Amino acid sequence: MHDIGLATVLEEQIHKVMEDRRWTRILDVQVKVGQLRNISPTAVQLCIEEIFRSTPSAGARVDVTVLAGVIHCKVCGADSTVEDDLVLCPRCASTNVEAVQGDELILKSLRGE
Ligand SMILES: [Zn+2]
Repeated sequence: MHDIGLATVLEEQIHKVMEDRRWTRILDVQVKVGQLRNISPTAVQLCIEEIFRSTPSAGARVDVTVLAGVIHCKVCGADSTVEDDLVLCPRCASTNVEAVQGDELILKSLRGE
């Protein structure tokens, strides 16, 4: 169940920033999630709200944006943006592709006090 891993990663990153900046709570968090991770922005948002539940950060504004997936085809060399979960080269229909973007999970910005 990768949602638990996701929560752990986000929680660790958020806590590290809070420690570095000596914040006691988060007011605003922006996350970018790669489309190829197959996680819905809503799931990420709920996950972060769950992390903040019963902490001083409860009620923080959570903003999740999706980063489009880009795949590189090892057969024909095309770089293509993928619009759904199907990872297939749109030019030659090969499945011999690698993700060049879209696998990210980035804490884009954090605001706290
Ligand atoms: Zn191709």
